[in-house]
Amino acid sequence: MVTAKTVHESPRETNILTEADVVVVGAGPAGVTAAIAAAREGADTILMDRYGHLGGMATGGLVLMFNPSAGQGQEWMDRLNKVNGVHDLSRTSEPEWGHTRMVDPELLKCILNDMTLETGVRLLLHSWSSAAVVDNNTVKGVIFESKSGRQAVMGKVIIDATGDGDVYASAGAEFDASLDKGYRTSEMAMVFRIGGINFDKFAEFRKVQPQEWVKLREEGFELAGFHIAPIPGQRQDVFWVNNFIRGKNCLKVEDLNWVEVNVRKIMIPLYSFYKKVVPGFENSYLYDSASQIGTRGSRRLIGAHVLTGEEAKTGKKFDDTVLIFPRGVPLSWPADRPPENVEMPYRCLVPVKLDGLLAAGRCFSSDQAANSMFNVISHCIQMGQAAGTAAALAVQSKVQPREIDIKGLQKRLIAQGVELP
Ligand SMILES: Cc1cc2nc3c(=O)[nH]c(=O)nc-3n(C[C@H](O)[C@H](O)[C@H](O)COP(=O)(O)OP(=O)(O)OC[C@H]3O[C@@H](n4cnc5c(N)ncnc54)[C@H](O)[C@@H]3O)c2cc1C
Repeated sequence: MVTAKTVHESPRETNILTEADVVVVGAGPAGVTAAIAAAREGADTILMDRYGHLGGMATGGLVLMFNPSAGQGQEWMDRLNKVNGVHDLSRTSEPEWGHTRMVDPELLKCILNDMTLETGVRLLLHSWSSAAVVDNNTVKGVIFESKSGRQAVMGKVIIDATGDGDVYASAGAEFDASLDKGYRTSEMAMVFRIGGINFDKFAEFRKVQPQEWVKLREEGFELAGFHIAPIPGQRQDVFWVNNFIRGKNCLKVEDLNWVEVNVRKIMIPLYSFYKKVVPGFENSYLYDSASQIGTRGSRRLIGAHVLTGEEAKTGKKFDDTVLIFPRGVPLSWPADRPPENVEMPYRCLVPVKLDGLLAAGRCFSSDQAANSMFNVISHCIQMGQAAGTAAALAVQSKVQPREIDIKGLQKRLIAQGVELP
């Protein structure tokens, strides 16, 4: 039935395509890692994503700046290094970015495919999860849409690694989606790159006339209408243009449209401006733009523990710590960063009431301050590793994720090379 404001959909039977021990929804840094971790622990694992490649923001979103990290994060780096896919910015004239690495997104897509397939993870790409299947307070699967229509995948443990908490939101878990100005997670983006740069010429210009570069960069901000950060990319002849769009919400389709259209509008004027005025950019051109819109922050689970900015700053310790955020990693840390490693308890991945479900990655249980600090690739990889390992343990022990033996999980993680206190 159709009214002026609504369309009534009839109830229908949905076919179950397949089932697995662990179903991971979302193949960004957290989801890929969770799936590999679960499969390595012996779980039959499915990894689903709405797009055709793995990596989420780290590939499709062109978010290419990685901090070093232990566990699976180090494996990503080792594999990328072997194919010349990492550029260490400390080796360039970019001292402020010296702690970080720029990766090649295309090589990373291939490497993540290799890593998942080698581990026996079953990939379900081009599949958009639209609803959780919940029975008796337990998430038992997800319904997804694809070119084959609407189908379901069932699992003993479902991991929501969609970044936006799509699965737990539709399952009825509590979450917080407030995004206050002042947190980096409130800003969206559409990253793009400028190619054909003579980096030596540009570096010389920056060295000799640093103030002039700052001035031209500021003029670029004004032209764009929002803050941008051009940084040398994985290849020195390719600049990475990060941007920061305020006041838009990635959970609103109108806002997604706005960012997509309006950032694209400024790409030609901006790179043409640099081409004209910045030494080294004379032969530059628009290299590419992200196929996946840049979402820094979104829903945050209200889990069995909500990590707060205060806990992070004071370096609070937990008995069920499953990852530490090393203090040597400056990205996203506030100026008053804590004196010690910051710990995250397993409970940040576990919903308060719902069973059968874990959340991993940027939608983990945290307040805005903690999320803004820890929602970076290396930390999301670590969360994925903890969630995937925990899911496999839950399946093996035939218990709910909230009931697993935490000491056993911590031992498994340490055996995998994860650093724990
Ligand atoms: C512009 C920008 C700059 C950033 N800069 C940095 C930086 O310099 N360094 C850094 O470390 N971090 C940075 N970040 C943060 C970093 O990108 C995130 O912390 C990280 O990517 C989060 O990983 P994730 O796996 O939780 O989510 P995502 O990377 O968002 O991955 C989520 C995955 O889920 C899939 N998905 C979503 N919904 C569904 C659905 N309903 N069904 C099926 N699949 C779905 C998506 O396609 C995607 O593959 C930046 C982020 C942005 C946007």
